[in-house]
Amino acid sequence: MIVGFIGLGTMGGPMALNLLKKGHRVVAFDVTPAAIRSLTDAGAVAAPTPKAVAAGSEVVITMLPDAPDVERVALGPDGIVEGIKPGSVYIDMSTIDPATTRKVGAAMAAKGASMIDSPVGKTAEHAVAGTLTLMVGGPADVVARCRPVLDCMGTDFFHCGELGAGQTMKLLNNLLAAAVGEASVEALVAGTKAGLSLDTMMSVLKTTMAWNNQLAISMPKRSLAGDFKPGFMMKLAHKDCRLALKMVDALGVAAPVGHAVLGSLQEGLDRGLQDHDVGALLKLREEPVGVEVRLRTS
Ligand code: NAD
Repeated sequence: MIVGFIGLGTMGGPMALNLLKKGHRVVAFDVTPAAIRSLTDAGAVAAPTPKAVAAGSEVVITMLPDAPDVERVALGPDGIVEGIKPGSVYIDMSTIDPATTRKVGAAMAAKGASMIDSPVGKTAEHAVAGTLTLMVGGPADVVARCRPVLDCMGTDFFHCGELGAGQTMKLLNNLLAAAVGEASVEALVAGTKAGLSLDTMMSVLKTTMAWNNQLAISMPKRSLAGDFKPGFMMKLAHKDCRLALKMVDALGVAAPVGHAVLGSLQEGLDRGLQDHDVGALLKLREEPVGVEVRLRTS
């Protein structure tokens, strides 16, 4: 297939490369010229605008930071909707809010095109390996048509429901992951400050429910080795939790822990850690009490 790909960053770059490796032709666009170059070097064709990407593709994919970026690229001047052909499909794989997804989907439908959402789970390493989790929303027949393309990027595939259901699942997943990550950071820093060794805490936690809820400690693992390179940037985790809580609040569900976690992520942004990995939450808790919680490297 000819696949358009817009947003060639940490995740989108390797995802587009996997499409090329599996034999698809890729038409690429990004606002960062270096990101386009790494794709054209691998055999993709560059297009000058999202409109041109859509006009030259059977399937158009976006992997952008946030909802306003998706709206701009899909519906703005020279946007996807201006170029998309009747019968073709737009897949948004960014993590955004389901209301924006449905708004963009209606605009695509007015042009005779279809839309599905497929935000992804796991990490940049899984994007490289083509083993992402795909949380998909949209009509079953359109989803089935897109499977050969989606399967190039992920191995764990879940059709969650109608358009927007993938985003609903993804936002709740990330809110849960961030909440557990924040709780893990707090416990490990408090334990270190109180004189427990990281070895002792890890050994005990591995035998109990605290670890066996299996998310515990997962987020700060790299940060415990002192590595705060993104990964998954603090500002994207903040965006995901903000969007998740907007949805949860609108549902009338109380989420005191979720709001506390958003407060911690906001603290990270206020401290200038927006481009660090989200695991840098650890630093926020370490620095005020003068400890460093680090795995021994030997
Ligand atoms: P990133 O910032 O590395 O990449 C975004 C890319 O989009 C950049 O190359 C940027 O230049 C480009 N871009 C921004 N605005 C644009 C525009 N108007 N037109 C064209 N290109 C534009 O971000 P990322 O880490 O790749 O994340 C992308 C999405 O995937 C986000 O929604 C994020 O929440 C989600 N996500 C990230 C991870 C992760 O571990 N990094 C994991 C799962 C999901």
